[in-house]
Amino acid sequence: MRQKDKPKNRLRFWDWLVLGFAVLCFGIACYAKLRPPTPQILTEGTLELHFIDVGQGDAALLCCNGHNMLIDGGMSQSSSRVYTYLMKHNIKTLDYIVATHPHDDHVGGLAGALNAATAMRALSTCEEAEGRAFQSFLKYLGQQGVAIEVPQPGDTFDLGTAHITVLGPLRESGNVNDTSLVLRVTFGDFHALFTGDAEYEEEADILASGADLQCDVLKVGHHGGSDATSEAWLRAVQPKTAVISCGKNNDYCHAAQQTLARLQSVGAEILRTDQLGDIVLVVQHDGSYGIAEEQEVPEGEITFVVNTKSGKFHDPKCSSAADIADQNRLDFTGTREELIDRGYEPCGRCKP
Ligand SMILES: [Zn+2]
Ligand SMILES: [Zn+2]
Repeated sequence: MRQKDKPKNRLRFWDWLVLGFAVLCFGIACYAKLRPPTPQILTEGTLELHFIDVGQGDAALLCCNGHNMLIDGGMSQSSSRVYTYLMKHNIKTLDYIVATHPHDDHVGGLAGALNAATAMRALSTCEEAEGRAFQSFLKYLGQQGVAIEVPQPGDTFDLGTAHITVLGPLRESGNVNDTSLVLRVTFGDFHALFTGDAEYEEEADILASGADLQCDVLKVGHHGGSDATSEAWLRAVQPKTAVISCGKNNDYCHAAQQTLARLQSVGAEILRTDQLGDIVLVVQHDGSYGIAEEQEVPEGEITFVVNTKSGKFHDPKCSSAADIADQNRLDFTGTREELIDRGYEPCGRCKP
């Protein structure tokens, strides 16, 4: 009898063990499914969309598998902001620098980007344009030996494992905003649309072209102005998240109430740089995405503190370093030579 009982008890023990293990696996699977994507900056195998707060203007940085694209750079006054942002995120190469159209609030800050990073290709809607901001963009591109390419609708570009398709402009227009480069980004099942300042006219052209417009994230056209983002456009685009890049208390009343109402009517979650500052979305391969917490300081020990306004760099312990205003301060983790290469001078007091 005893000999018969023993295997029976053992069987029960193993039954419980298997059942316990199954419950544990089920629990882990549920947790993994419900858990929001882990927000992490500059990780491999993800697509990051950085909407940089440049006040009234547009600037977006896309990063995928170590490849980077900057779409617009805000006003000239934002140059140091864009410069600092790229330095902080250790972006030394831009596979593409894009000017969606030659207006100052898109092109001005690209000079700052070209001081921080080397561009491999430049995309815009024209090779020449009036205005100091565009001339400055051309000057810095020229120093790097890069010529502007004018892509055509249907052209595609690879950014790591993400793909970018040009949807517009489809024709010339008297309204420069309606000649904006409109780009659709695809990463697995995820899609995002970058529309520059495209207004109703260009939206209608792109709709008529029959291009696939559905997207998860829409960079709303013309800073959320009332002259862009028509109902017909939104019916085709069906954005889950709408990002508006505009300045606090700007002179243009961006974003317009009518536009916000139209976005709300299609159920889009609205994110605004004038309310949130920099917005970073991290997209996972399965198409899920979430807002990332920004890392204040890059990994690694701070070796120098840079004043991007005065052009001087300091030992982190220098008393002058503590007095640098937040918007001009850059905590640097690289070498002294790198800073000198970038045109910075050592502080005369702390002699770093
Ligand atoms: Zn604009
Ligand atoms: Zn414009």
